[in-house]
Amino acid sequence: MEADVIVLGTGAAGLTAALAAHGHGADVLVLEKSDKVGGTSAWSGGMIWIPCNHHMREAGLEDSREEALTYLEALSHDLIDPVLAEAFVDTGPEMVEWMESNTPVQFQLVPNFPDYHPEHPGGKPGGGRSLECPLFSYDTLEAHRELVTVGYNYGTAPITMEESNLGRAVPIEVPEEERARRAERDERGCGQALMGRLFKGCIDRNIPVRTGYRATRLLLEDGAVAGVAGEGPDGPFEVDARGGVVLATGGFEWNRELVRTFLRGPMTSPVSVPTNEGDGLTMSMRIGAALGNMREAWWMPAVEIPGDRGDGRPHQHLFASERARPRSIMVNRAGRRFTNEAANYNAFGAAFHEQDVARFDYANLPCWFIFDQKHLDTYGFIGTEPGAPAANWVANAPTLRALAAQLGIDPDGLEETVATWNSYAEAGRDPDFHRGESAHDTWWGDPWEKGTPGATLGPLDTGPFYAVAVRSGALGTKGGPKTDGLARVQNVDGETIAGLYAAGNVMASAMGMTYGGAGGTLAPGMVFGFLAGRDAAARAAASR
Ligand SMILES: Cc1cc2nc3c(=O)[nH]c(=O)nc-3n(C[C@H](O)[C@H](O)[C@H](O)COP(=O)(O)OP(=O)(O)OC[C@H]3O[C@@H](n4cnc5c(N)ncnc54)[C@H](O)[C@@H]3O)c2cc1C
Repeated sequence: MEADVIVLGTGAAGLTAALAAHGHGADVLVLEKSDKVGGTSAWSGGMIWIPCNHHMREAGLEDSREEALTYLEALSHDLIDPVLAEAFVDTGPEMVEWMESNTPVQFQLVPNFPDYHPEHPGGKPGGGRSLECPLFSYDTLEAHRELVTVGYNYGTAPITMEESNLGRAVPIEVPEEERARRAERDERGCGQALMGRLFKGCIDRNIPVRTGYRATRLLLEDGAVAGVAGEGPDGPFEVDARGGVVLATGGFEWNRELVRTFLRGPMTSPVSVPTNEGDGLTMSMRIGAALGNMREAWWMPAVEIPGDRGDGRPHQHLFASERARPRSIMVNRAGRRFTNEAANYNAFGAAFHEQDVARFDYANLPCWFIFDQKHLDTYGFIGTEPGAPAANWVANAPTLRALAAQLGIDPDGLEETVATWNSYAEAGRDPDFHRGESAHDTWWGDPWEKGTPGATLGPLDTGPFYAVAVRSGALGTKGGPKTDGLARVQNVDGETIAGLYAAGNVMASAMGMTYGGAGGTLAPGMVFGFLAGRDAAARAAASR
């Protein structure tokens, strides 16, 4: 095997790099460690967050480079490298247009989806920066259809994000006839649509995508990366790359040792594909790459559902919109609320890392989501339809005291907290943690009350009461080899390692500790994938 450009990993970052490299004249080979294609990207919501994209312009929504950079700077806390922020903001719209003109990847607005910190300078409370792909028919993948990995949170959802509870004030009811039409053509939305389209682009261009190939080592020639070695289905392999190697191997969230070494606080429950074990990080460290943003992840509270999801691991449910719904709060062992429960999932991670200095312990781990019977009746709960009884793994008791005793929560604390919360719900204001004051909170809450404080504020007054433990999880880590604005990996002396690129969760993220809005992780992955593929293709052309 030999190619101009070798791409490692088949998530959105990797396949975007492959398409961009091929589209700019390179001969490309993609290697994937898993026996499936698509990575966590295929399990995702498939949204991308691109400031100043042409869809928002065409819808009459305003945005500018200055607003986007101001927003990122306001959220940086000195962790965002301005060079990367500018590369992201400047190249995002170009990447979208290039994909739409040269590949089956098409985008549309997820209308009105607010940024995740919409009230910060440059934020967009009315949305516009979040895009998603239209549904995609898996029939068109023919024999390759089964190769795309399917996640256990969204499955093969035959709806777009816009049609979901999340994307609308009142969810769109897809008529039976239309559902049947979609089923007939195996049309899929969300991350399945994005990855189906990216993969179809590779198939159309005859880009070989080899599964079961785990890269483990970068091959050097005169200090430049000139290929990779690893383990394939038939044993060890080596491949030469004339233009470069793109690391797009995802994060290190499934490698306990790397997690312990680098992350800033506990993270026990990753929700990504388990092949993301930090291989790209290790390969780049071995040849002297500079590392950045190592403490950070795309944090995500998770609820563990007992049992086996099919690979010997329990199902980790992304715990996002549930936290924002009325008639629910979260408490720690003291029975105290500790933050705005409706806050965006990435920012929420910090609550799990807070330490109680006096007790020398984590202040909010363990913690629980507590809700009442009316919450269950109205919204259902993880796999339980509204009106149905709660699943047997959800703790319940007739009174708050009894629930607290069952779980080891301070009963007086819990009773006091709920009484205070109920008075806040009655007053329509949460003076402790400001839940319901951001456009973000009222978007994620009750879809029928979208945009009003009632979307997230409501009393817990009707027993029985229910509780589940909430864990510190992550969609993926976001630290790794540092790159420049062209996705070229830098060494510890600040020089470019010729021939080595990084994109997606493997790289030191352009986003620091921030999650800008819905699509905030896939977007930088695709933008830096695009930059990497294009530059590696140019490098290959120059070497001919
Ligand atoms: C349920 C869910 C919903 C989400 N929704 C969104 C959303 O709507 N928008 C958004 O922006 N983000 C979302 N995310 C997060 C997003 O999916 C990830 O951050 C993103 O997919 C990471 O992309 P990536 O290309 O870097 O890595 P991945 O997509 O994880 O791909 C990495 C690939 O590299 C392969 N690999 C690893 N090691 C090697 C090796 N040594 N050799 C070869 N291959 C290797 C892996 O097997 C994997 O296939 C969501 C995540 C989940 C779980």
